[in-house]
Amino acid sequence: MSAEKRTSSNVLLDTALKNFYAAAEEMGLSDDLVDILSHSERRTAVSIPVEMDDGSVKVFNGYRVLHSSAIGPGKGGVRFHQDVCLDECEALAMMMTWKCSLAGIPYGGGKGGVDCDPLKLSKKEKERVARTWAARMAPVIGSWTDVPAPDVGTSGPEMMWFIDTLSKMNNKLDPAVFTGKPVGMWGSKGRTAATGYGVATCALELLKNLNLDPSTIRVSIQGFGNVGTYAALTMVNAGAKVVAISDITGTYYSPKGLDIKKAMEHVQNHPKKLLEGFACDGCQKLDLPEAIYVECDIFMPCALEGVINGGNADKVKAKYIVEAANGPITPEGDAILDKKGVLVVPDFLANSGGVIGSYFEWCQNLSGFFWTEEEYNERLIRIMKDNFQLVWAYAKEKNIKMRRAAFMAAIQRVADAVRMRGVFL
Ligand code: GLU
Repeated sequence: MSAEKRTSSNVLLDTALKNFYAAAEEMGLSDDLVDILSHSERRTAVSIPVEMDDGSVKVFNGYRVLHSSAIGPGKGGVRFHQDVCLDECEALAMMMTWKCSLAGIPYGGGKGGVDCDPLKLSKKEKERVARTWAARMAPVIGSWTDVPAPDVGTSGPEMMWFIDTLSKMNNKLDPAVFTGKPVGMWGSKGRTAATGYGVATCALELLKNLNLDPSTIRVSIQGFGNVGTYAALTMVNAGAKVVAISDITGTYYSPKGLDIKKAMEHVQNHPKKLLEGFACDGCQKLDLPEAIYVECDIFMPCALEGVINGGNADKVKAKYIVEAANGPITPEGDAILDKKGVLVVPDFLANSGGVIGSYFEWCQNLSGFFWTEEEYNERLIRIMKDNFQLVWAYAKEKNIKMRRAAFMAAIQRVADAVRMRGVFL
């Protein structure tokens, strides 16, 4: 008997479910598998009481969702952002299942977070948030259970607080419990740039398949954090012009192309690591959302979810969108872009460089043997290119959009794993 379809008032979870159900229907996935894979194995919520610097106590909410461990341990980041909630973590965990499956790496999908605004916390307060999250999540994380990593608002320092807390609690160091650690502290050379590098690799493969020369291409990038920065740099190194970049302080636009190295230096020297005050020859400062609407060929949303939706998709001028953020386009936005003939490279293909890089780090941690940056990048690029071409060919063969093709290929592998393992817990 077919179970009722799940829906959610959370836009991201609703989008994740809709995309899953649509692909499952097109594949003819059996009802039991639809039912199993539309639910998460574990949704953990904890409180995070934190002593603030002024002596007061604030209680945040911490989450970790394991969507599926059919293929392997859960894998996915921990997000520090004021809007984090359990449903959002579930949606992102589900996307991680498809991302890892499509990437062909031996993981399921997980995601976690804390509903705090890291920009409003001191370093010490952030440390207390991170340590409490790790301590309370200790029963549900582990190198063969669920392996967290950085996400929005977290990076190397948070991973170190997580790992230090766990290793002191267990009186045993297990560096493979977390990935995205700093180089020299069991991290891998190459991991920092991996996601942005992978996003740009997909964009360059797309151009190759379309017989377009990168030097004729204008790119607009929303979000200038870790992902946006390295995506921009790689596109510029390939000869493309990055005409717009943005962060929470606004959009910085120049039709002549921006000096990305200068922008990176600016951010490095800014006390809050922002583009605020960035000026270059011919550069105009525009309002925050304008990166989405400027004249360009490729738009790369590298910030948060839902930025292109039913309300604004018709204003997009780009011909191609390479999704670097998780879930930046809602299904309504997708339908409008489709009518306009905009080609979308889906998030869990385009941004899989991060988690593929995490897999390399995990392998190195388990074996205790480190690779060179060249080896790391060479393997990363090879996997990204192969996966892009696989989805491209599958989409052509079935005459479907790349998003649908990516979903179908990813879901099939997880469904096969569930079948092989059988239904128990
Ligand atoms: N947060 C990244 C993602 O969404 C990386 C996850 C990981 O490395 O486990 O893909």
